[in-house]
Amino acid sequence: MAPSATNENGHSNGTAKLDFTTFSNTINGKLVPASDGATRHGINPATKKANPPVPVATKKDLDAAVEAGRAAFKKWAKTSVQERREALVKFADALGSLQEEFAQLLTMEQGKPLMFARQEVQSGPAWIKGIGNLDIPEEVVEDNEDRKVITRYTPLGVVGAIVPWNFPVQLACGKITPAVLTGNVIIVKPSPFTPYCDLKIGELAQQFFPPGVVQVLSGDDNLGPWITSHPGIDKISFTGSTVTGKKVMESASKTLKRVTLELGGNDPAIICKSVNIATVAPKIATLAFLNSGQICLCVKRIYIHKDIYNEFRDAMVEHTKTFKVGNGTEDGVFLGPVQNSMQYEKVKGFFDDVEKNGMKMAVGGKVSETGGYFINPTIIDNPKEDSKIVQEEPFGPIVPIMTWSDEDDVVARANDTQMGLGASVWSSDLDEAARIAKQLEAGSVWVNAHIEVSPLVPFGGHKQSGIGSEWGSSGLKHFCNSQSLFLKKKA
Ligand code: NAD
Repeated sequence: MAPSATNENGHSNGTAKLDFTTFSNTINGKLVPASDGATRHGINPATKKANPPVPVATKKDLDAAVEAGRAAFKKWAKTSVQERREALVKFADALGSLQEEFAQLLTMEQGKPLMFARQEVQSGPAWIKGIGNLDIPEEVVEDNEDRKVITRYTPLGVVGAIVPWNFPVQLACGKITPAVLTGNVIIVKPSPFTPYCDLKIGELAQQFFPPGVVQVLSGDDNLGPWITSHPGIDKISFTGSTVTGKKVMESASKTLKRVTLELGGNDPAIICKSVNIATVAPKIATLAFLNSGQICLCVKRIYIHKDIYNEFRDAMVEHTKTFKVGNGTEDGVFLGPVQNSMQYEKVKGFFDDVEKNGMKMAVGGKVSETGGYFINPTIIDNPKEDSKIVQEEPFGPIVPIMTWSDEDDVVARANDTQMGLGASVWSSDLDEAARIAKQLEAGSVWVNAHIEVSPLVPFGGHKQSGIGSEWGSSGLKHFCNSQSLFLKKKA
């Protein structure tokens, strides 16, 4: 079952070759099936056909991974940052050299169009190298005749990384890198909807890291709770919905695990009347419907100044009509299917609510049954502020547009949510834009942009969009204990 390219001794000469037809868990440097042999499979959301079998990890498998991780941690924590960085760079290059294979696999399991799958796979090496190049140097807090006091950052131990189904490659790389760079080891749990690329990332990692440093387990709905409650795991790095994030925190609290939670969003975009409608309206439509609306940072509530509302709406509608919906393997497709049946039903619930309450659709409309989970991009024309489509995150290709006229009022409406992930202001008047932007309650705020992220910039949410941050050097610190070291100069 094990693809031949994997070097069981942990290190290789860096030749990146993987078999993309069979899928195994990686435990202690080995490719293994589930201990009881159980398998399940994901679904290609564009065809509703079964993808290949993947293991369903048992509790015993998790225990074995934790034991291997704890053993590996003892040695890995003692390696130099330089050594870890070199391993990461080789890993990144190997991943980059398999871009096309990973992109095809990603489209098959996730549904996103190939051009976006290629971009996501490219972001893997970019995130590994970007974060891998960062440092958290020791800080000298005090240095006098009597003593020197240093703040240093030490690794936590075994990290459990829980990944959602919308960006399995980028988000797994964005957790593996800071964990291993800071001297931790990591067990990655992909979403059961999208286990394929992450299992291959785990397999590839065996060529560059000693056994037990990077392990990946595919499982069913039991595996997440087993990880968050496992006494041998020291930290949970979680990306997913707010509802699940609360369960993760509750479970992790029993063993006082460190947690980083990257959760849902309901991002507002405020469009001021000075914008160039011809250039900004297509951008806003794109930022609402990228990845079929399944990005935590997609624009999810659009507030358009009343003086330009009609013209801006019409320009958005015209641009939205050019988006091709279909199987991500077809040329020119911009919106692939929604990723899974559960999400499809959830998004359909928003359409039902729109219909039930007689809201107006500027473009798009009813969801019709097809061979895949396809939904046409839909804009809801000026719904009430308290409607479901404004208040909740659909995580699908349906977005509301509303009017505003008073600056204080639109800021209050933008902030009137438990979410606080991203927000943006669009204006040709940069003073006005900066003034509004600084009042927005969100972890990332942009002027004349949205969704722009970087491995060097900390990413995290305010309010119920998360706790802590990942990426950037402050993200590294969330994978560490802070230690105050007092060095007395005389005994
Ligand atoms: P989800 O919360 O359903 O699942 C996320 C992961 O958690 C999956 O791997 C799942 O198997 C696991 N999980 C489920 N129940 C668990 C439990 N009780 N204990 C431990 N793990 C458990 O989220 P999803 O549907 O996969 O992703 C969509 C959501 O994620 C959206 O709300 C989106 O906004 C959010 N998201 C946030 C970010 C961010 O960085 N802030 C990025 C991507 C997605």
